Amino acid sequence: MTSSVSSSALAPQVTHTDFTSLWLAILEKLSPELQRTEFITWFRDTTILGREEGKVIIGLPLPMVMNWHLEKFQAVTLEKCKEVDSAITQVVYKVDGNLKDNRDRSIDILEHFPDQKRRKLPGKQEVKMAEGLVSKILNPRYLIENFIVGSNNRLAQAACAAVASSPGGKYNPLFLYGGVGLGKTHLLQATGNAILQRNPRATVVYATTEDFTNQVVEAIRTQKMENLRRRYRQVDILIIDDIQFLANKERTQEEFFHTFNTLYEAGKQIIISSDRPPDELKLEDRLVSRFERGMIADVSVPDYETRLAILVEKSKEYELFIDMSVLQFIAEHTTKNVRELEGILMQAVAQYELEQRMPTIKSIADIMSKLNKDPHVQEQEVGFESQDRKKATLQDVMEAVSKYYSVSLDDMMGTSRVREVLLPRQIAMYIGKQHLAISYVRLGEVFGNRDHTTVMNSCGKIEKKIQGDHNVLREVHTLTSELGLR
Ligand code: ADP
Ligand code: MG
Repeated sequence: MTSSVSSSALAPQVTHTDFTSLWLAILEKLSPELQRTEFITWFRDTTILGREEGKVIIGLPLPMVMNWHLEKFQAVTLEKCKEVDSAITQVVYKVDGNLKDNRDRSIDILEHFPDQKRRKLPGKQEVKMAEGLVSKILNPRYLIENFIVGSNNRLAQAACAAVASSPGGKYNPLFLYGGVGLGKTHLLQATGNAILQRNPRATVVYATTEDFTNQVVEAIRTQKMENLRRRYRQVDILIIDDIQFLANKERTQEEFFHTFNTLYEAGKQIIISSDRPPDELKLEDRLVSRFERGMIADVSVPDYETRLAILVEKSKEYELFIDMSVLQFIAEHTTKNVRELEGILMQAVAQYELEQRMPTIKSIADIMSKLNKDPHVQEQEVGFESQDRKKATLQDVMEAVSKYYSVSLDDMMGTSRVREVLLPRQIAMYIGKQHLAISYVRLGEVFGNRDHTTVMNSCGKIEKKIQGDHNVLREVHTLTSELGLR
């Protein structure tokens, strides 16, 4: 830094005859005030369209963008305008669809404001280790604070929080179980992180069952089992992930049993995860009965609200501003586990970074259909009962639509053209055509003897709406999923 004097204090008042340079000067001041993604998202394809004395007219590419500006950025924009040119007293907005990606008219924000720093990740948490012990470094992203609690994991989270505040206390051992991608590793590591934060001198070992097995195998090979045992005795907190993989490994089970007993008797905390409850593990009885002596908590699939809350939290962590309707769409359609939910979000982040394109319902739906390109496989994994479900008929479609929009079947087949009836009617036609391949003529007959060109028009309208209207896309998506037509 050579000078800390504010440049505006010294610079002669610039008169911006050219709106582009005026806008650039303002953006220059705005950019440090906002998060980068926010800045890029809401200020790209913008410009100054005109100026009438103190009033500056800012051009924005979409009505949605204008809503954001009015809600969030108007005050700060005016403040920065004044800093650049004190004669400015008012900022107004105008939507001009022609600004989108129009490099002759609007500023290429990525070129003018290149990414200076990559996304910052929290620093690595060092784990103090007894020499020779294998522990994975705990992932600093996994915290108790950013673990979203719902009815599916409330007990598990509470137990972890209790263990974090008094390790070796009444929840020992702590045994968490549940399906893949439901947050067990997150909770285990978050507990380790929290313990280390309170007591940086604690020896925390986090190992997968595989790590532990490898150590035992190595000790056998080098005939240094005594060493390994001695080292494990110095551990304060032992965290072992995915204990189900101990099945059929007699020698490792035996070693683990001894380690477990030694630590347990010394009042050291042991935390274990598994994909199933203790009594279903294919392990020695004496080990199972040790696990059953402690605290057992399960994690299961989160409900819609919890999924949505997780998405909101994760998108904040990744500094990605995603429209709520898009997050709702993901939460509605990703029901299997949290990892899958995060996977879709990560794809959206990647898409954003590569193409600087904000996720839309359409782009997310594309990502999802690519990920599930073999719907059959997915059904099996989820264990849907839909395998022998019979294919939906037009009658099913009409009933589902009628229920979804609370419009009677009579109305759907009738002549009313009020929006409340028209849209469901058109959507039912569209699904009939698109997913059941029913002809326009036949659809016309069913829907109150309409001409086939009318049906064709209706389907075309929905087709178009799906491209531009999030709600319609989501509604069609929900209906077709419900009907098993996807
Ligand atoms: P598991 O070990 O049960 O297979 P993970 O702990 O690896 O699952 O979880 C998969 C991903 O989902 C992780 O990135 C984790 O942060 C995230 N996750 C799971 N449940 C939650 C939750 N309740 N709140 C926040 N993130 C979660
Ligand atoms: Mg795991």
